[in-house]
Amino acid sequence: MTNPLPETRGALLDVQDLHKSFGPHEVLRGIDLAVMPGERVAIIGGSGSGKSTLLRCLNFMEVPTRGRIALDGRALGRTGRDGTVAYPEGELCRVRRRVGMVFQQFNLFPHMTAVENVMEALVTVKGTPRREARARAEAELAKVGLAEKRDAYPSRLSGGQQQRVAIARALAMDPEILLFDEPTSSLDPELVGEVLRVIRGLAEEGRTMLLVTHELGFAYHVATKVVFLADGRFYETGTPDEVLKHPRGERTRSFLARHS
Ligand code: ADP
Ligand code: MG
Repeated sequence: MTNPLPETRGALLDVQDLHKSFGPHEVLRGIDLAVMPGERVAIIGGSGSGKSTLLRCLNFMEVPTRGRIALDGRALGRTGRDGTVAYPEGELCRVRRRVGMVFQQFNLFPHMTAVENVMEALVTVKGTPRREARARAEAELAKVGLAEKRDAYPSRLSGGQQQRVAIARALAMDPEILLFDEPTSSLDPELVGEVLRVIRGLAEEGRTMLLVTHELGFAYHVATKVVFLADGRFYETGTPDEVLKHPRGERTRSFLARHS
């Protein structure tokens, strides 16, 4: 990385020239993305195109092979002369709290009730006293419409309810950015709506979010920006109307033809 671009002023999240390889397989080949406060970016792309890898890099679960990620104008980690990044462990813990993630498979702890799942990181990561954490968790569960399910174990909840618990868990940490990785892809069709409604509510609150989704109609209505990921790059970027209704690129067009 010889000449880093100047950071995008005011961006909550600023990604520059992000690369990620697994062995010889270069999955991300130079991603640039600036997310302003309140922006909602929908990321679309084929299976295996690197959407989850990108979100995992932005949640600092993966270390990029190269590139720069800045939160609120502060770049994370140390960038070497060759562009490689190293993340100090203490810094990782601090920044992970600032980015909330919701996974396709919910990833709830099966041996904990809904409220315990939501409290867990508050207690263990933030050091919030249990009573206070429980009160906060109950408030978050109420917000996603699950006040009555607080003592239920995940196995007793529908997929839609489990995903709403997972969203409550992310919100409890007061993240500045929310990342959703295909949050409705493993749900039965009749359960998709309840989860999308919660996400739409968060959008209306003005939350900053990145959303990987195949729900293109939802992306069209909720996103402020849509990016199409192909070959490890943002092949096409624009407003929902530009990318989803009037795509310029041939690959975007064929992707959309297959997914609508
Ligand atoms: P998407 O979410 O768009 O379907 P992924 O980000 O999950 O795509 O994966 C992109 C590519 O990276 C795939 O070819 C996948 O097999 C590969 N990949 C993802 N994670 C790993 C890993 N931990 N080790 C090796 N290869 C991986
Ligand atoms: Mg994925």
